Amino acid sequence: MDFVNLAHPDERVDFATAVQRGLGRGQGLFFPERIKPLADIDALLDLPFVTRSARLLAGLTGLEPTLAEALVSRAFDFPVEQVSLGGDVHALELFHGPSLAFKDFGARFLAACLGEFSNGDPTTILTATSGDTGAAVAHAFHGIAGVRAVILYPRGRISPLQEKLFCTLGDNIHTISVDADFDTCQALVKQAFDDQALRRDLGLNSANSINVARLLAQVSYYFESVAQLGGKAPVFCVPSGNFGNVTACGVARALGLPVRRLLAATNRNDTVPRYLADGRWEPQATVATLSNAMDISRPNNFPRVEELARRAGVPIADYLRSVAVDDVATTDAIVELDAAGYLADPHSALAWKALVRELRAGEAGVFLCTAHPAKFAEVIEDTLGRAVPLPPALAAVRDKPLLSARIPGDIDALREQLRDD
Ligand SMILES: *Cc1c(COP(=O)(O)O)cnc(C)c1O
Repeated sequence: MDFVNLAHPDERVDFATAVQRGLGRGQGLFFPERIKPLADIDALLDLPFVTRSARLLAGLTGLEPTLAEALVSRAFDFPVEQVSLGGDVHALELFHGPSLAFKDFGARFLAACLGEFSNGDPTTILTATSGDTGAAVAHAFHGIAGVRAVILYPRGRISPLQEKLFCTLGDNIHTISVDADFDTCQALVKQAFDDQALRRDLGLNSANSINVARLLAQVSYYFESVAQLGGKAPVFCVPSGNFGNVTACGVARALGLPVRRLLAATNRNDTVPRYLADGRWEPQATVATLSNAMDISRPNNFPRVEELARRAGVPIADYLRSVAVDDVATTDAIVELDAAGYLADPHSALAWKALVRELRAGEAGVFLCTAHPAKFAEVIEDTLGRAVPLPPALAAVRDKPLLSARIPGDIDALREQLRDD
């Protein structure tokens, strides 16, 4: 399987190279050159989750089937649960992994791949997080020999418990709080990758959602969702920030998974909904919202979504629908879901709100629950007036000291930190 740099299509590499480089030349994104529709979707849907996911990923990556099976079973060692809320609306719970967020799927598969592909040279995983990526990456790489993970995050813009979940591990996990917003953190990562000397000396690699291994891993649970629905094609509603998760749904659809419609929900950082409405790409300053993992106004996976639409031969506005849900509607959604007996974090609640606004009669709808409600306990408590019980993974880190370094939002400070650390 060849992977092509979408910005420079003459750069074509195999899966291992795409994973190790993270980004292509000129900051281009790698993407499978061709996604061939699968022959027998029904038989695939009948398989157990890990076996099916290994088949899918072997096909998408070109990995040997036995190796794919080994990597997938190491990475996906926790369940995907789909809960029916009645009225053919379903919650796809992706937060049963170690960091309690869907990013565990991608991060753990990526860590398994890099462990497999590394040949003893020093490797530094450099990534920016608006919250959940950090925890997923930290846990996925914690204790992996020869790999250091460096995680940047916007100071004061992620939930305190979230910060505890990944900034207390130590060992080969280094965390840096940046006095800037997430988009700046993301820009710093890109600048570090553009510094060839730094990149070479430290063996820089990205674990951000720009890494194609993470993206492809996420294709797996869309198949699981449809399998649990008994094969009916649902409308998927994905709470979106960098649009990696939506891209994975698009890849699943290109493989032939029955998907009725694809819906991307955003918060007030609504670059994509506005773009689909009027064709103008006009990111505005990022604003802080309750769904802070989605506080992104320049979603860096969007070129991949556009590529999928181009290959499907439909205008982007027909390929994908995107709606923005503000904080008031998000807290309303938390209250309404709670009244119906379902506790949802702000990101998941926002996706539910967008889904029920858009779902038509006779359609099945699936909204993605991307984080455990306890990760956003402060918001839930403010909204519902009661405490959320902490799952063991969070209770264990609550009183540990934060180990983060702190830097201003400029590349020189980051470079110094990376070289000294
Ligand atoms: C990262 C994240 C998202 C957004 O996913 P993208 O792939 O960046 O669009 C949504 N919800 C939660 C909880 C997240 O951590």
